[in-house]
Amino acid sequence: MFALAAPAQAEDHKEADKVRPQLVVAISIDQLSSDLFSEYRNQFSGGFKRLLTGAVFPSGYQAHAATETCPGHSTILTGAHPARSGIIANGWVDQRISREQKAVYCAEDVNARHAGPPAYVPSAVHLEVPTLGERMKSANPYSRNVSVSGKDRAALTMGGKNTDQVYFFEREVKQFLTVSGRDLHPFMASLNSKVEKQVDDGLANRAVPVFCEAKGREIKVNERKSVGEHDLTRSPGDSYGYRASPDLDAVTLEAATGLVDAMQLGKGAATDMLAIGLSSTDYVGHMYGTQGQEMCIQLLALDNMLGSFFDGLDQRGIDYLVALTADHGGHDLPERLREQGVPEAKRIGDDFNVAGLEKSVGRALGLEDGTPLFYPSRFFNSDIYIMDSLDAGMKQRVKSEAIRQLSDSQQVEAVFDTSTLGNVAISTAAPENWTLAERARASYYPGRSGDILVMLKKATTPIPASTKTYVGTHGSPWDYDRRVPMLFWHKDMAHFEQALTVMTVDIAPTLAAMIGLNIAANELDGRCLDLDAGAGDSCN
Ligand code: ZN
Repeated sequence: MFALAAPAQAEDHKEADKVRPQLVVAISIDQLSSDLFSEYRNQFSGGFKRLLTGAVFPSGYQAHAATETCPGHSTILTGAHPARSGIIANGWVDQRISREQKAVYCAEDVNARHAGPPAYVPSAVHLEVPTLGERMKSANPYSRNVSVSGKDRAALTMGGKNTDQVYFFEREVKQFLTVSGRDLHPFMASLNSKVEKQVDDGLANRAVPVFCEAKGREIKVNERKSVGEHDLTRSPGDSYGYRASPDLDAVTLEAATGLVDAMQLGKGAATDMLAIGLSSTDYVGHMYGTQGQEMCIQLLALDNMLGSFFDGLDQRGIDYLVALTADHGGHDLPERLREQGVPEAKRIGDDFNVAGLEKSVGRALGLEDGTPLFYPSRFFNSDIYIMDSLDAGMKQRVKSEAIRQLSDSQQVEAVFDTSTLGNVAISTAAPENWTLAERARASYYPGRSGDILVMLKKATTPIPASTKTYVGTHGSPWDYDRRVPMLFWHKDMAHFEQALTVMTVDIAPTLAAMIGLNIAANELDGRCLDLDAGAGDSCN
């Protein structure tokens, strides 16, 4: 099936004779943009260097508008845009649910209660389509579907509802948890004591690579906060610092390897799925931005850890197929962007938010001060929900006035009345050419999406300058947040690089073809990518 096989020989092989990989390893590096990947690819000497000898697609796209973690991870193994999977954002509002809190987290079961933490019940209940691991299990019950990540929403949207094992790090308890009603595998229980101790001990020293030292320079965000020169060490008990360091990724990979051994993944009667969500890169990007010493330390450490992880699979004699990508991209903080060739980079104004919009729309409509018009929402660059308690006529007036005011703002690029998005077709064009409406359409799911969608101007960070914690983010419809690398590797694959754009929804059909699993084309938004560098075709 690969270029190494002579064509005549390949044709002689019957379908059943094809040797299929025994284990699919699907890795998502949270917030690894194509831009970061190209910045560092010449520095890699470990796991990334190995993947660069396989099939390399430097311009993959999370094609949708709401480039957040939950939707991003949901596209990778479902082959479906958020418009089909229902995972439109990290959170949305459901005013019909009976509980007081109408905001819904993408990976919570709103109908279930538990003792916590976390305060919600982690679940893949909102995922409306099957994952590749679930499809593999349906096709062959001997197939195991395992998912592990630093974040619950990553593990659950890559694993799906029907997993054999699923684990995610929970900061509040300093441990990996699983879904409710399930016991921890004994291996994970023992790993958890080590994880908790690592957090409690803190980390006093970390060697900084010389290459990274050169990127260290202080950037002042505000009176309280500077970034650029941190070495990702942390005080005892600092679980936030633990997440924003390579240490969370290290222990996530340790969990993955431990589960390979404990479950003998890749050694069973059918191909197994191991999904891995590595979250540290995202936490580093949020806390320190992308262009300082911090991200450099993180990515070079990650490269080393991935190298050791793949070496470990080799030593176990497992025939595995890797797909690596990211749930979204990201870009740097405006304070550093302005110093580095992007003078227009800015933060959203402290007063430019949904609460402020509510006041000014209320005033324009002559309503009493404090009349609730919108369901409270944190940031722009996402959906705005008008209160269902308003009558239809008032709802329409509120919507029109809000759209009028938002359209007038210098910070806003586009505003959509989402009720018009259903008329937009899901684009099949190259993703870089999608209109903003087409990007919004791929994120639109009736009944979950809001009434109004606001898109901020390029290089506008939706975090105000008064921030105490996160300095940078993603989530916009711009290509710096949409474009991610897509790398495929198997030991018999011949190298090629394809610079033309592809999409993360192409990953599931591509992997499915490699393991001989049929998925009806009408159940997918993506297409199979031919990973055979020569005349052969891994899609047939
Ligand atoms: Zn993310």
